[in-house]
Amino acid sequence: MSILQTMSQEEVNARDYVQDVYETVVKRNPHESEFHQAIKEILESLIPVIAKHPKYKEHGILERIVEPERLISFRVPWVDDQGIVRVNRGFRVQFNSAIGPFKGGLRFHPSVNASIIKFLGFEQIFKNSLTGQPIGGGKGGSDFDPKGKSDGEIMRFTQSFMTELFKYIGPDTDVPAGDIGVGAREIGYMFGQYKRIRGGNEAGVLTGKGIVYGGSLARTEATGYGTVYFVNEMLKSKGLSFEGSTVVVSGSGNVAIYAIQKATQLGAKVVACSDSNGYVYDKNGINLETVQRLKEVERKRLSEYVKEHPDAIYSEGCQNIWTIPCDIALPCATQNEIDETSAKILVSNGVQAIGEGANMPSTLDAIDVFLKAGVLFGPAKAANAGGVAVSALEMSQNSMRYSWSFHEVDDKLHQIMKNIYRNSVNAAEEYGHPGNLVVGANIAGFLKVADSMIAQGVI
Ligand code: NDP
Repeated sequence: MSILQTMSQEEVNARDYVQDVYETVVKRNPHESEFHQAIKEILESLIPVIAKHPKYKEHGILERIVEPERLISFRVPWVDDQGIVRVNRGFRVQFNSAIGPFKGGLRFHPSVNASIIKFLGFEQIFKNSLTGQPIGGGKGGSDFDPKGKSDGEIMRFTQSFMTELFKYIGPDTDVPAGDIGVGAREIGYMFGQYKRIRGGNEAGVLTGKGIVYGGSLARTEATGYGTVYFVNEMLKSKGLSFEGSTVVVSGSGNVAIYAIQKATQLGAKVVACSDSNGYVYDKNGINLETVQRLKEVERKRLSEYVKEHPDAIYSEGCQNIWTIPCDIALPCATQNEIDETSAKILVSNGVQAIGEGANMPSTLDAIDVFLKAGVLFGPAKAANAGGVAVSALEMSQNSMRYSWSFHEVDDKLHQIMKNIYRNSVNAAEEYGHPGNLVVGANIAGFLKVADSMIAQGVI
C-alpha cells in the first residue's frame, strides 16, 4: 500500500477494506499473478473514493466488481496440415455488463490462461467506461499459437473456436474483437463461421472486421494513433511535443505499427521496435514500410530488417530495448515488459513520457519508479483505449447501416482521447493525487460502473 502515506481515519478504514477484498481475490484465484497485479493496482487507487463515498462499501461494489459475471472455458479441437488432431483451450470472461454489452478482444498466444484473460477482462471494464461509450468489460482467447501455422490451419482453428464461442456472444450481449495474434484474417474467419451458424448477418457481433464487410475505417490504426494522441496531451501539459523527439516503441504488431506511424507524422524519430525474439535499432529512424511488409504481409521475423537496412542493428532478446536513450517510450508489445530495472534505466537516460500502448506493460514497481521520478505516465487503460473506442464506433455504424469516412472516425478518436485525458486529470486532482493518471484513470473509469451497479441492484 505505497501510494498513500498520510491518511485520514476514513482512508485507513478504506485501505483495510480494500486489503480484505484483495486478499479474498488472491485466496479465491490462487496462482493467478497477472490477475492479482491488475486487481491490486486498481483497488489501491480507489482508496480515496471508498473513503469519501461509503455507499460503495455498503453496496458491496468492490466484492462484486472483482468477480466476473461469468468465465467460460472450452475445448477447441482442430486438425493440422498433417492430419493430426490438436486440442487447445478457449476462454471468454464476461466480467461486467453494468454499462453495456461485454466488449473486449480475443488473444491467441501460447501464454494465454485464466489469469491473463481475467486481468485483461478486469482492466477492460474501466477502460471501456473511460471511453464514454456504453460498453461493458470482457476478454477472451486461446493458448493457440498462430506463429508458423498455415492459412488453412488458422482457418480450421478459428472455425472450431467460434463453433463453441457463438453460444455466448451477440451484438447486444458480448462483442469480441482482436488482440495479440488476432488480426483482420482471424476476425474474418470467425465472422464467417458465426454467420454460417447463426444464419443471419449480425454485423455488430465482432469488431475489427474488414472494411468491405462492415468494418470501420481507422479501426486498424485506432489503438496506436490513440496512444500517441494521449501522450501528446500529456506532453502539451508540460509545454513539450513529439516534434524533434526520439521515441522507442516495443512490438511490431498492430498497436506498435500505428503508434510508430502517428509519432513519425507528429515529427518524432522512432529509432527502435521489437518482436518477441529481439529488437532493431535504426539511428536513421525505423522504416515503417519494411516493418509492415515483413510482419503483416510476409509474416517474417524482425531480424530480417537489417538485411534491407545495413545501418540498423538487430539484438536478440527484448529487455535491452529500454536501454536505448529516448525522450518518449511507447511499450506496445505485451504485459510486464518494463520492470523496475528497465524503468530506472529509462529514467536515468532522461525519458520524459511513457505511453502504454500494450495492456499492463509496466510492472507495479516500474510504475512507482516513473511516478516518483516525475515522468509523465499514461497508463494502458487510458492511453490504449482508442482501439475499443473505435470498436464501439464500428458497432454504432453497423447499427445505423452507415459508414463514416476515415477523417470522421479519426476526429472522433482524437476527441475521445482528449476527453479521457481530461477526465483522468480531473479525477486525480479531485481525489488528492494531482498529476497521477494511474489513480485518475482508475477512478474516472470506476465511478460510472459503480453507480450503474448500485442503480441496478444486487445482481
Ligand atoms: P499483435 O499480435 O499485432 O502484436 C504483438 C507484438 O508484440 C508483436 O510484435 C509480438 O511479437 C510482440 N509480442 C507478443 N508477445 C510478446 C512477448 N511475450 N514478448 C515480447 N514481444 C511480444 O498484437 P497487438 O499489437 O494487437 O497488441 C499488442 C498489445 O496491445 C497487447 O498488450 C494488447 O493487449 C494491447 N492492445 C491491443 C489493442 C488492439 O486494438 N489491437 C487494443 C488495446 C490494447 P511476435 O510477432 O514475435 O509475436
